[in-house]
Amino acid sequence: MEGDLSALLSGAAGFLIDLDGTLVSGRTVLPDAHWLLQEVGERFVLVSNNSEHTPEQLSRHLRQIGLQIPPERMVLAGTTALGHIAKGQPGARVLLLGSPALRAHARQIGLELVEDHADVVLVTRDRRFTYQRLAQAARAVASGARLVVACPDRNHPGPRGQPVPEAGALGLAVAAAGGAERYEIIGKPEPLLFELGCARLGIAPSDGLMIGDNAETDGAGALRLGMGFLQVRKGLIRTALARPAPAPHQEAAIA
Ligand SMILES: [Mg+2]
Repeated sequence: MEGDLSALLSGAAGFLIDLDGTLVSGRTVLPDAHWLLQEVGERFVLVSNNSEHTPEQLSRHLRQIGLQIPPERMVLAGTTALGHIAKGQPGARVLLLGSPALRAHARQIGLELVEDHADVVLVTRDRRFTYQRLAQAARAVASGARLVVACPDRNHPGPRGQPVPEAGALGLAVAAAGGAERYEIIGKPEPLLFELGCARLGIAPSDGLMIGDNAETDGAGALRLGMGFLQVRKGLIRTALARPAPAPHQEAAIA
């Protein structure tokens, strides 16, 4: 049985692997995480809509719960959003709703963090979000600043299944308050994280397999790029692999 499952994985040149709901849930490592990481060896990149941590921080957190994933194997929505802004508008004045770690990272890559006259408002998972920050961001957007939101997720499930607010919910608040009709989204299902992940692996998306729990983000994004998608429920990766691949118009297809 194990041999058969390994053979299924050997059909892909590389893997993009989601974190929450796939390898971990909160601080709990899910059942097949160690098995999967052992199987894929060096052929994977973690691709997550996490917009609170830097790869270095997240790597340390995961090590504490027994998962060894080096920072260079991570593509995260928050730091990717900052990199995307810095590349397109070097030295941009950014009003950043974000964690202290993300603020430090923004400065390191040459962005100027401002409260007024921002060129860009970037919304990430900001646990210190307040009415005042909302008002500042709304004013900037109403004055013409570009609005970028790290990921579309409005919440993720907490340890007891309760909703934990995500960057997408804060982004909607800023857009509504500032009167923005639309805004740019960086995280899954948009293509950027998938493309960066594949580039890091040196593979074409059509040769890769996305392994994740969310059909709307992991699945839709992968399929849009012609990449296979394996949907995992409750971290049961081996069970998902053992299922016959559903028809392509359904949730998943193994490449
Ligand atoms: Mg997930």
